[in-house]
Amino acid sequence: MTKMLVVDDEIEICDFLKTFFEERNYKVFTALTGETAMRLVDQENPAIVLLDIKMPGLDGLEVLKRIKTFHPETKVIMVTAIETRDKIDEANRLGADNYITKPLSLEYLETDVKDKLESLVR
Ligand SMILES: [Mg+2]
Repeated sequence: MTKMLVVDDEIEICDFLKTFFEERNYKVFTALTGETAMRLVDQENPAIVLLDIKMPGLDGLEVLKRIKTFHPETKVIMVTAIETRDKIDEANRLGADNYITKPLSLEYLETDVKDKLESLVR
């Protein structure tokens, strides 16, 4: 079972993504902060991380930088809202593997997001 870590400071988004991907046979961990995310990356070594950019404390770009330094094989998909799209260039420079945009609808997950994931983990 492919391990996935979902990182978002909004618990509703963590729960929504966890439910969606568990139903599709991923083993899903969630983290509400960048600090928890780093601990879970170290402990669980997920194949893929869905990473919110905008979080209080350790933000998504900082977490991305750390993941790519200490676990360069881990694939990271940035999750951005409209107002943080300007951070995508920086995320790409830091080694992000792809990005998806909020709002995250079921239809968007079923089509674009699943394809992006499957191209990364196969
Ligand atoms: Mg956020």
